[in-house]
Parts: sequence; structure tokens; C-alpha cells
Amino acid sequence: MSESSDNRGRNVRRVRPFLEEFEAKPFWANLREHKLTAQHCKACGKFFTFPPQGSCPHCLSTDYEWTQLSGKGKVYSFVSYHRAWHPAYEGKTPYNVSLVDLDEGPRLISNVIDCPPEQVKIGMPVQVVYEDNDEFTLPKFRPVN
Ligand SMILES: [Zn+2]
Repeated sequence: MSESSDNRGRNVRRVRPFLEEFEAKPFWANLREHKLTAQHCKACGKFFTFPPQGSCPHCLSTDYEWTQLSGKGKVYSFVSYHRAWHPAYEGKTPYNVSLVDLDEGPRLISNVIDCPPEQVKIGMPVQVVYEDNDEFTLPKFRPVN
């Protein structure tokens, strides 16, 4: 184990999603095209929850399709980090971590950006924006009026 990797070989100096997880691959590929998608159950018609998974959390069906979402939602809850608990966040505090309830139902963990941390409120309407990185694209949220 080196200074920059944990006991599972993951790089801890740089935060990177697990892009190769089987169920999550379409999620990350669609984000690359600036499309926020979720698994939609063909059996019961409900959306899966996040993170992506192999069967419907409502009815256990494995028959689903990836469906594009509106990208609109509301802040369900949030925290503001004023301390870098991970080396990758040094110099980036304070930053916001929010639970966003998407209009279609699923709840996504993300960040509200372009907004001072003290102005993030529960129930605040937000809209997805896409943050492109070298290897992946992250869905982040911005307040809407
Ligand atoms: Zn279902």
C-alpha cells in the first residue's frame, strides 16, 4: 500500500467514481453525453434509486431501461464541509454536499454549485449542470429561480 492508495488499491489522492461497475456503466456513459439518466423499471413503472443496481428496489424485477431525466429537482437535505476530510478536498472548503430529489423520483447525492454555501436551502429548486473531467462527467446542480 503506497501513500496514495488504500488497501484495495484505490487512489486516495484523487477522487474518481467507480466507472467500471457493471450496473453503473450506462449512467457514466450517458453523463459523458450530458444526459442525466436513471434505471426505469419495465415491470412496475417506477424509477430505481441511486446508485445503479441490478434489480428494481420496488418490485425486484431485473427488466429495466435507462431513461433520460429532466435534470430538475429540489434539495432534500444538505451539509457544508468546512474541513477537508479527504486529501483531494484540501483547499476546496467550504463545499456543499446535497441530497437532490429529482422530479421523476430518484434521490441523488451531488453538490449545489454556483451558490454560496449559506444560501443553499432545503426545498430549493435546482437544475443539473455537467462538470466534465478528463475521464468522467459529474452531475452537479445549480439553483433555478
Ligand atoms: Zn419495479
